Amino acid sequence: MVVARPYIVGNWKMHGTRGMLAEARAIDRVAARLSAVEVALAPPYTLLHGMVEVVQSIGVGAQDVHVAGGGAYTGDVSAAMVADTGAGFTIVGHSERRGAYGETDADVRAKAEAAQAVDLNVILCVGETEAQRDAGKAEATVAAQLAGSLPQGEHAAARLAVAYEPIWAIGTGRVPSLEDVAAIHAAIRADLVKAYGDAGKGVRILYGGSVNAGNAAALLAVADVGGALVGGASLTAESFGAIIAAASLVHETR
Ligand code: PEP
Repeated sequence: MVVARPYIVGNWKMHGTRGMLAEARAIDRVAARLSAVEVALAPPYTLLHGMVEVVQSIGVGAQDVHVAGGGAYTGDVSAAMVADTGAGFTIVGHSERRGAYGETDADVRAKAEAAQAVDLNVILCVGETEAQRDAGKAEATVAAQLAGSLPQGEHAAARLAVAYEPIWAIGTGRVPSLEDVAAIHAAIRADLVKAYGDAGKGVRILYGGSVNAGNAAALLAVADVGGALVGGASLTAESFGAIIAAASLVHETR
């Protein structure tokens, strides 16, 4: 059986000015050496085009897009504008956007569909709060998010990855148990197959939330964890390179 390459994506959030492109180039060199891993970075909009210009072995994408193709939306950026930079994907539905901007599942679906309409791949984020997990509602929360936000359309699954990111694990140094990760990823897989049929089997499901060099190998070895969405540890080639190296080793032993 051919096992898909792990997909390791760095979300730089609101970090990085042009000087950081040197770090992206260093990450690009690591990715060129460890070709068993698919690597990508999502820098701020201001660095998209510059990053596309200086890397060869990694994907580059945005952290969000507006639903509209263009218009009177001060401060926003459309999917077509992101595609025009040469970027290949966008994240949608990150919990920081759902939380700070009140993005609903319907908004997230509209963003995913707008992105796919201009041939961008989409990484759609879902995940529960700590209170929802403590109440035994983690799986139900994620299922409801998927039901409301998975993009529709003939080729929706082909241009999609889902990132499971428990909100309480983001930037906190805390991660769920491997059993909990396995359970949620299995539930997400079942939901994807329900939504897309056989095409749902090929959608990659990434884990995100305090992934670092120390825990990456164990998380990536869990069934149905097809990669990682990494925040803080993606900001330097040293820390992100160590995660890419761990992913490469896990892939080799599969
Ligand atoms: C994220 O915000 O997507 C994330 C996973 O952050 P961190 O790795 O810093 O927890």
